[in-house]
Amino acid sequence: MAHDPTSLESGARPTVLVIGMGDTGVLTAGHLSRHCRVIGVTTKPMLVSGQELGLRLTEDAQWRRNYLTPLDHYRRLRRVEIIHGRAARIDPIARTASLELASGEQRCLNWDYLIIASGVSNGFWRDDRLDTCGVIESRLASQRAAVTAAKSIAVVGGGPSGTSAAFNLKRAYPNKSVTLFFPAEELLPGYPQSTRRYHRELLARQGVDLHAGHRAVVSDDLVTSDWTGGRLDFAGGQPSARADLIIWAAGRLKPHTDFLPRDMLNPAGFVRTDACLNVAGYARIFAIGDVAATDPLRCSARNWAYKVLCRNLLAKMKQRALPARFTPPSHRWGSIVGPQSTGLKLHSPSGKSRVLPRWFVHWLLYPLVVRGFIYGGVRSKGLASFARDSWLDDNQGR
Ligand SMILES: Cc1cc2nc3c(=O)[nH]c(=O)nc-3n(C[C@H](O)[C@H](O)[C@H](O)COP(=O)(O)OP(=O)(O)OC[C@H]3O[C@@H](n4cnc5c(N)ncnc54)[C@H](O)[C@@H]3O)c2cc1C
Repeated sequence: MAHDPTSLESGARPTVLVIGMGDTGVLTAGHLSRHCRVIGVTTKPMLVSGQELGLRLTEDAQWRRNYLTPLDHYRRLRRVEIIHGRAARIDPIARTASLELASGEQRCLNWDYLIIASGVSNGFWRDDRLDTCGVIESRLASQRAAVTAAKSIAVVGGGPSGTSAAFNLKRAYPNKSVTLFFPAEELLPGYPQSTRRYHRELLARQGVDLHAGHRAVVSDDLVTSDWTGGRLDFAGGQPSARADLIIWAAGRLKPHTDFLPRDMLNPAGFVRTDACLNVAGYARIFAIGDVAATDPLRCSARNWAYKVLCRNLLAKMKQRALPARFTPPSHRWGSIVGPQSTGLKLHSPSGKSRVLPRWFVHWLLYPLVVRGFIYGGVRSKGLASFARDSWLDDNQGR
């Protein structure tokens, strides 16, 4: 295995290794790159965001413009060394990481500080496979083709992903039968009551067939990332259901933590992380995003937690007390079904909601606030493709 004799703080800038370049890895690596040497290890050469599942299945141009971006298009990542590979093991005492590279080789890296941002597997749309851009694109295309071919679609799970998938599928394909099965009496656990009620009524109005109290049986050998149809059975003994396509959004999360020492993890396998986003017992290791057990909702992918992490890491390098704390909201918030032709409806943690007009979302929120301000600039895919995407948006009545 090749060994990388990287700097170890003596004179040179400290090395921060970020494991996982998804939604949070990209943000933290970009923000730290002005201050230290940053290396990002990533299973995918593009950011394949886990956000907006419903739009991913129905509005290809719109989703890919905001949620599928080659990493070399992010301006803030210009100074970040990106390694296409997977972390196989870390040694917190020796401060090394063993990597399996996409090329098939292995590599060992030294680091001064480590950020764990490796996320979770969740259904078919989040995983820790080592993929090329070509594989990512062909998988997206075959999923779109399966949606188009299916006459009946069953969505399993009443969280934000299942709700968004069911709503957007029925809106985009009113002639298909779309059924949503969820185990509780209400959708959207963790959201305020008014948000839950609003979405139940919205789905019913859209024509989604709702089946509360239906807990689908997931046998041990069933792979819920499969992309097939068939029969669904229910734990409560209700009659089985059949669909041409079953979309599993049942919240069976698997944290990507196999490469970490066991004592860093809680019993469910998530990284034990305090309010400073510091991993319990490891002063030089931080964690963020879906993998970090910061709070019951594990919501540090949002709520500006990357700023907390960056401030604390920079303070740690200067041997100062950690200045920032992550304060999770009491309830989940945000948009559930994503931007629609009527605008973007945002739900606050208190249950209030407001609609951002479509022009604002299209021309200001995504290009200026998200891509420009939050991500620090994303190199455009070219004027021609932007014009084509905008034309598609405008002519598909979004
Ligand atoms: C700006 C912003 C807005 C958001 N808005 C919403 C919203 O409105 N509604 C909502 O529900 N959620 C929202 N979210 C949250 C979002 O849906 C998820 O919580 C987020 O995608 C999780 O990000 P992550 O970085 O933890 O994981 P991911 O984005 O899944 O990234 C993890 C990456 O690490 C890779 N990886 C795994 N193991 C390894 C390994 N061993 N070595 C190397 N790489 C590895 C994975 O393959 C993946 O590429 C938002 C997040 C952000 C940043």
